[in-house]
Amino acid sequence: MMKMKLHWQIIIGLVTGTLFGIFAAWNQWSGFTQDWIAPFGTIFVNLLKLIAVPLVFASLVTGISSLADISQLSRMGGKTIGIYLLTTAVAIIIGLVVVNTLEPGSLMPQKVGIELQKAYQSNLDEKAASVEIVKDRGPLQPLVDIVPTNIIGAASSNRSMLQVVFFSLLFGIGLMLVQSEGTATVARFISGMNDVVIKIVDLIMLVAPIGVFALMAGTITAIAGDDLGTILELLKALGFYSFAVVLGLLLHVFLVYGFIIRFFTPHTFKKFFTAIAPAQLVAFSTSSSAATLPVSFDCVEENLGVRNEVASFVLPIGATINLDGTALYQGVAAVFIAQVLGIPLDFTVQLTIVLTALLASIGAAPVPGAGLIMLVIVLEAIGVPSAGVALILGVDRILDMVRTATNVTGDCAVTALIDASEKRAEERA
Ligand code: ASP
Repeated sequence: MMKMKLHWQIIIGLVTGTLFGIFAAWNQWSGFTQDWIAPFGTIFVNLLKLIAVPLVFASLVTGISSLADISQLSRMGGKTIGIYLLTTAVAIIIGLVVVNTLEPGSLMPQKVGIELQKAYQSNLDEKAASVEIVKDRGPLQPLVDIVPTNIIGAASSNRSMLQVVFFSLLFGIGLMLVQSEGTATVARFISGMNDVVIKIVDLIMLVAPIGVFALMAGTITAIAGDDLGTILELLKALGFYSFAVVLGLLLHVFLVYGFIIRFFTPHTFKKFFTAIAPAQLVAFSTSSSAATLPVSFDCVEENLGVRNEVASFVLPIGATINLDGTALYQGVAAVFIAQVLGIPLDFTVQLTIVLTALLASIGAAPVPGAGLIMLVIVLEAIGVPSAGVALILGVDRILDMVRTATNVTGDCAVTALIDASEKRAEERA
């Protein structure tokens, strides 16, 4: 019997998990689901996080030591960062066009706005501490944050992935520069370690359908509690806003990534999306680009044939700085909040949104809910009260899933692009 493709297995896990979650919330089984089903989702996410740091280290060091020279690294680095920034800026502009055209905030009755703000004020107070830290950050703080003071400290948190990337880069460059019997042994050892880590990712993916089922059932029952009606009420109030965010994200995925895939890579649209479907689905159900990183590696290398030296460099940087979905959502959310509060935003203010959402998305950690905290930076910059975040808190968890899937799609599309362009550069040389 032919084995069902992994992405179909995960889709089945996702759909049945969603249905189970709705059924559980309907029948007051949320407590049972949280106690006995959700933990399997947590185990799945923990497994992915567990392997992320060893994966980035082993594959980046192996990748760099197989590069021809350092100039290839700086060429690839320049291209990667440039394209990441460009796609993020385009994402924000798409979001702004959508939200200014649809004007979801102007359609919301004032009464509903006030009720939402009241209902979610306490949730916002819980986030106040993180919001204060974000407000105090200087403009160059993201740059300072790249360089760790202690590698064990950096490796102990998946939020510091860029620090691990930085150390692995230094290590790989050192290994490339010193050619001795000793370093050859180190390189062979790390390359062997890389093979083992990749095998572990394959093993973890075997349980992905179950993990995704448990994550979906857990998320739905966590949001709904035993009262499905609350979700429906929220969706009614914030439905048009959510529609604007999702429409923007879909436009970005199909237009911008579609353009990249069609014109800058040898892949067809269909092949690309089938190849990375497991990563998109895991991103959707975990809401974390960091946890999805091992799956993205697996997809681009095994299914798209992207070379290890490219994927190991472009993907982890993308997971930390290229959050197109988050940036687009921040643009839409900021304008929506201003619309509800009746604050007019002229063209210069909209330009400020492009700039600040770019920075805020770079600074957002690739973990659930980070985009919402960083939204405060955007609101502060355009003079909209940050308490307005309470307006959109209710649907944030759901939108987080869609924007994380977009973030991961963007990383994979740019990785495919860089791989194709590096191949062409090598052929020319
Ligand atoms: N959850 C998103 C991610 O991990 C970040 C965010 O927008 O909150 O990519």
